[in-house]
Amino acid sequence: VIKISSLCKWFGQFKVLTDVDLEVRKGERVVICGPSGSGKSTLIRCINRLEEHQSGHIWVNGLEMTDNIKNIEAIRRNIGMVFQSFNLFPHLTVLENLTLGPTLVRQMKKKDADALAMQFLEKVCIPEQAHKYPLQLSGGQQQRVAIARSLCMEPEIMLFDEPTSALDPEMIKEVLDTMIELADSGMTMIVVTHEMGFARTVANNVVLMADGQIVETGPPESFFGNPQHERTRTFLDQIL
Ligand code: ATP
Ligand code: MG
Repeated sequence: VIKISSLCKWFGQFKVLTDVDLEVRKGERVVICGPSGSGKSTLIRCINRLEEHQSGHIWVNGLEMTDNIKNIEAIRRNIGMVFQSFNLFPHLTVLENLTLGPTLVRQMKKKDADALAMQFLEKVCIPEQAHKYPLQLSGGQQQRVAIARSLCMEPEIMLFDEPTSALDPEMIKEVLDTMIELADSGMTMIVVTHEMGFARTVANNVVLMADGQIVETGPPESFFGNPQHERTRTFLDQIL
């Protein structure tokens, strides 16, 4: 469903992505790791055009991401994104955060949007928090609300950018468990994370980025068990 080929991106003079190739098939989970500043966020932000690339191609469901607004909108409809900082609207309740997209963008009736939202809050195990405000919740709960909010748009693909790195250790597991459940349901996922336990159990492919390039990619068994590149070995030594 996603094909990226020879992708390059510059921020001014600075080349942040160099010839990135990546393919993700339907239902696959790809975990991207790599040192800070290696371009992981920039790469996944290009997929839904939160960043623009200057050369190379990105296709989602056969549709190319260009500056054609119709393509951008069509592709974005299929993609949900979860960030490190939860990006919830603090002045809206949990339920209102979830129903905003469905009522505004998908023109659902409020009643239907509420029912959909409750269904996803149950899925992330916090239906009892529906009427609270985001800041009344723990970080882990807020991130699960953010995941549920994305799911309310019923995307085909979910992008995660370090979803657990702002969380206290005891809350990381509850968010990872939610993501594992999502993976088990067959969702296509690209996850930037340093949670290597998650990568081992959930990923079809693990990708190491360094200096804007993909250094190594492979299924977890070979990526962790028998890395081909020195760069991968030093990275894994540092974080494991
Ligand atoms: P981290 O692990 O710290 O999140 P990352 O791998 O996600 O890092 P990016 O955020 O993609 O890295 O950034 C890659 C490089 O691009 C960094 O050197 C960063 O300073 C630079 N960069 C990112 N966003 C911008 C921007 N809007 N303008 C200029 N430079 C940027
Ligand atoms: Mg980043």
